[in-house]
Amino acid sequence: VINFNKVNKSFDTDTGVNHVLKDIDLAIPKGKIFGVIGYSGAGKSTLIRCINGLEKPTSGTVTFNDETVNQLNHHDLLQLRGKVSMIFQQFNLMPGRTIAENIALPIKYKGLDKQTVTDKVNKLLELVGLPDKGSAYPAALSGGQKQRVAIARALVNDPEVLLCDEATSALDPETTDSILDLLKQLNHDYGITIIIVTHEMHVIESICDDIAVLDKGRIVEQGNVYAVFSNPQNQLTKRFINTTS
Ligand code: ATP
Ligand code: MG
Repeated sequence: VINFNKVNKSFDTDTGVNHVLKDIDLAIPKGKIFGVIGYSGAGKSTLIRCINGLEKPTSGTVTFNDETVNQLNHHDLLQLRGKVSMIFQQFNLMPGRTIAENIALPIKYKGLDKQTVTDKVNKLLELVGLPDKGSAYPAALSGGQKQRVAIARALVNDPEVLLCDEATSALDPETTDSILDLLKQLNHDYGITIIIVTHEMHVIESICDDIAVLDKGRIVEQGNVYAVFSNPQNQLTKRFINTTS
C-alpha cells in the first residue's frame, strides 16, 4: 500500500546540507504492523512524515495506493491526511478543549450535523475505553488516557493507515502494553495498517510483523521481525537487539 522509491531528503542548515534520508526503498503492505527502528537522529520521524506529506522528499517518490504523495496539491493532501493519520509521543491534545472536542477536531469543518458528530465521538470513546471522559479536559487525564484520546482523534476519519511516532515512549511499561493491545485490536478488527517508529525493542517484539532498521538515513536491514531478530545480518541491528531489549 505504501512505497518508497529511491527517496532522498536533505535539509539546508546554517552549517551546510544535512542529508537525512538516503536512497530509501521500502514497501509496506496493507494490513501489516510495520516497525521502524534506529538511533536518535537516524531519520525515523522524517521517513514516516513523508508518508502523509508533512515532509517532501528532495528526490524520489512516495506512493500511497498508487497516488504519488509528494505530487499532491493542497486539497488532495488534506484528503490524504484523513486516510493516513498520526499520533505522537507528546499526544498533542488541545488543552483548552474537552476530550470530545479534541476527538471531533479533524471533522469540525466537514459540515456534519451535530448528532452524527456526537455519535461518532461516543463510539470512539467507547472503542478506546474512555466512555465517561467526553466532557473532561486533557489535564485531568493520565498519559495513557491522553494517548487513547489521541488515538480516538486519529480514527475519526476512518483512516487506512495509522502512523505512530514514539507513541509509547512517554509511558510506563504497563501503560505501554495496554496501548499496544489497543493498536493490535485496531489492526485486527479494522485492518488498519500501523507504522510504528520506536527505539524500544520491546514494542517491536510484541506487536510488529515486519521491521526496517535505519542507520544514518539508510535502511540497513529489513524483513520479518522474527527472521531479523533471530538472525540479524547487520552490526547495528545486532547492537540494537543486545543493548536495548
Ligand atoms: P529521534 O529518535 O531523536 O526522534 P529520528 O530518527 O526521528 O530521531 P529525525 O527527527 O527524522 O530523526 O531527524 C533526522 C535528522 O534530520 C536530524 O539530524 C535532524 O536534525 C534533521 N531534521 C529533522 N527535521 C528537520 C528540519 N525540519 N529542519 C532541519 N533539519 C531537520
Ligand atoms: Mg523522531
